[in-house]
Amino acid sequence: MRYAEVSVNSPIAQRRTFSYAIPAGLSIDVGQAVWVPFGDKLLQGVVLELTDYPAVEETREIAGIIEPHPVLSPSHVLLARWISQHYLSPLFDAVALMLPPGFERKVLTFISISSIADDYDLFSFTHEHRHVFELVRRQGKVNLRQLEKTLGKKKAQTIVSQLVRRGLVVRSYELESVRARPKVAPYLSLAVDASEALKEVARLSKMRANKQAALLDFLAQQSKLVPLTEARQRVNCDKAVADALVNKGLVTIQHIQVKRDPLSSQDITPSYPLTLTAAQESAFKSIQSSLLETTKGQTSPAIFLLHGVTGSGKTEIYLQALAEAVRLGKRGIVLVPEIALTPQTIERFASRFPNKVAVLHSKLSLGEQFDEWQRIRSGEVDVVIGPRSAVFAPQPDLGLIVIDEEHEWAYKQNDTPRYHARAAAIKLAELTGAVVILGSATPDVETFYHAQRGDYHLLQLPERVTPSEGSALPQVKVVDLREELKAGNRSLFSRSLSQAMAKAVAGEEQVILFLNRRGAATFVQCRNCGFVLRCKRCEVPLTYHLTEDSMVCHQCNYRMPVPQLCPQCLSRRIKFLGVGTQKLEQEAGYTFPQARRLRWDSDATKRKHSHQEILNRFRAHQADILIGTQMVAKGLDLPQVTLVGVVSADTGLNLPDFRAGERAFQLLSQVAGRAGRGPLGGQVIIQTYSPEHYAIQAAAKHDYTLFYDKEIAYRRQLRNPPFTQLASLVYTHTNDALCQREAERMKRLLIEEINSKGIADLSLIGPAPAFIHRLRGRFRWQLILRGSELSTFLSQIPIPQGWTIDINPMGLA
Ligand code: ADP
Ligand code: ZN
Ligand code: ZN
Repeated sequence: MRYAEVSVNSPIAQRRTFSYAIPAGLSIDVGQAVWVPFGDKLLQGVVLELTDYPAVEETREIAGIIEPHPVLSPSHVLLARWISQHYLSPLFDAVALMLPPGFERKVLTFISISSIADDYDLFSFTHEHRHVFELVRRQGKVNLRQLEKTLGKKKAQTIVSQLVRRGLVVRSYELESVRARPKVAPYLSLAVDASEALKEVARLSKMRANKQAALLDFLAQQSKLVPLTEARQRVNCDKAVADALVNKGLVTIQHIQVKRDPLSSQDITPSYPLTLTAAQESAFKSIQSSLLETTKGQTSPAIFLLHGVTGSGKTEIYLQALAEAVRLGKRGIVLVPEIALTPQTIERFASRFPNKVAVLHSKLSLGEQFDEWQRIRSGEVDVVIGPRSAVFAPQPDLGLIVIDEEHEWAYKQNDTPRYHARAAAIKLAELTGAVVILGSATPDVETFYHAQRGDYHLLQLPERVTPSEGSALPQVKVVDLREELKAGNRSLFSRSLSQAMAKAVAGEEQVILFLNRRGAATFVQCRNCGFVLRCKRCEVPLTYHLTEDSMVCHQCNYRMPVPQLCPQCLSRRIKFLGVGTQKLEQEAGYTFPQARRLRWDSDATKRKHSHQEILNRFRAHQADILIGTQMVAKGLDLPQVTLVGVVSADTGLNLPDFRAGERAFQLLSQVAGRAGRGPLGGQVIIQTYSPEHYAIQAAAKHDYTLFYDKEIAYRRQLRNPPFTQLASLVYTHTNDALCQREAERMKRLLIEEINSKGIADLSLIGPAPAFIHRLRGRFRWQLILRGSELSTFLSQIPIPQGWTIDINPMGLA
């Protein structure tokens, strides 16, 4: 008898597998999806291991196979185990990351005639039993639900059970099919003939219904139906404009089914490899030889850090490395941050590998995702491209994993399992023998540290490929806001910034005002000298709590009232809480009444597609000043923008998070590296109360090393990652006091455990209210554990319900 260790889809299962006997005649592989009895239910499970001996004495049998092919490859089985162990997540949650989309579906039971059925046996049965048997014999296979409908649930189940016991019929199980709905989209066409439409255009123009006139004019020139979204973009109008034309009987809207293949709607022209520059060539050669040697089994696969500014030709290297992998009979996965998964990005890959690219992302319907998953598993594509979850795509013969913008926080999942896609990719590469390329203009400090130590190979592209294209890096000016106040300027705009804005607007150039709003209004700063209140014990900035009008440390719970005077310069202007985008827009309006303003923040982009719409409007120069949060940093490739103003760089610097400096540097670098790329060139003005801060200095000089050297020294000094590991433990409850007590109880328990085991390098910080102290009516308290081997330590401790553990947390939770 053989046995299987099965990860079962039940919340009770937690991080363990369960032993089941494999019934004779059933052939089971590792990675196979099976039905297993669990309590009085039949549940989905995935076989993770085959053994000769069960882990417990009493085992039940596997009830059946869900799909003939294993759903997880042996490497994915190991990866799932690693994720569960490392991030302390339930095992099936980790397994589920790799299952086909829509796998967790309802179970359907079918009844069919057994091969040994003999109707002689029916004599002893009732009329109803015989009726069921006849029905099954006639139809071959009957859904149990159908019987339940005619006979009632209870009776149908009893009769079937009795027939099964007699060996007359057998049960089988299938998953409910994926219910993928066809996708429809609205299309516009003229309801009148073109000559009449043009007469209407003239009439509408006279009545100053310019948008309607423009839309009608556009439609009159089209020979086929036009998607509403396209028409709106071309004419730059709202749906209301189309509706108005429909009401006048000039235009009709039809809903038409669109194709499910996410790439088929684009006309893709093939592209060919470019001749590499010397710097690209040398980076590519290293990757190429690693691919070659790994394929031959000569070395273990390498991890490369490709460090190069935007426009230095990283993507071209990814493309050629992927082609090389394909030439060696391998395939690749490319990860990009969700926000970067634009049609342009997809097209660059799709045009180099025509019909050989699959896209996986959350905006696809379940049906589309399912289709893509199957296509990938059957080996039909060379390249899979998608956000963090695409690292789990069932790509066979994996030879290369590319992670673009590897420093992006979007690669960390904030729900269980709280994995980081970079860590998962590196683990998967180790298991499959794939090469990894991590690309970034501003690598994560931890990644760069590994590259410095030689764990990763550092490849650098110091310059842009085409230095002519307005790409001399823009001038960055740092303005000291303390000086402004001294000179009597109380506005949000320094003298330099307002002069530059006036000049740009007068010259019909465009301006972007950038406001880092993340965590705004949480710290208190002196407007006179720039002093920020910090915790005396932890060094982190204190957070202002409006409700109690006091300052709190989110690491150790130290509290103090807001002082009346600045402790450093005794000024009364201590309580300055930063600005929001609305206020900024207002003030821009007072100062530059003649300039047209456009706001881009999360309020303005709640509507679908409005990112693109806002960007298109700005690109079409329908506004002079674009005001926005960190989102605008993504849309800086705008040739008419000659000035980018960072209104306050301090918000980012003063978050109570040891990565605040890194985050600020990344954002400012992005701004400083991309602004003014048009023929007009451009400049960046950074306003700050701490102009001497290394993150600001380094970003202004486009100098990664300057930043890294300072940052890594601080990390070492304060014992932060990569020199230690952190884990956050958050407890959530509707009662704040109870929440605090439980956090304190857990702290005592952990300290006891640390002491009894005699572990020297583990320490605890807190408990303190979490940065987001209250979420959806529940309070949150947090403990931070610092040390090494945290997963192993925590896995031995009983953690009650209500706690969430995050290993290597990113950002403020
Ligand atoms: P990155 O990914 O670092 O931002 P890209 O690969 O997108 O850089 O390259 C920037 C621009 O330079 C693109 O328009 C790309 O087509 C072009 N480019 C890249 N490599 C070469 C090359 N070797 N020769 C000519 N143009 C190149
Ligand atoms: Zn002061
Ligand atoms: Zn503190």
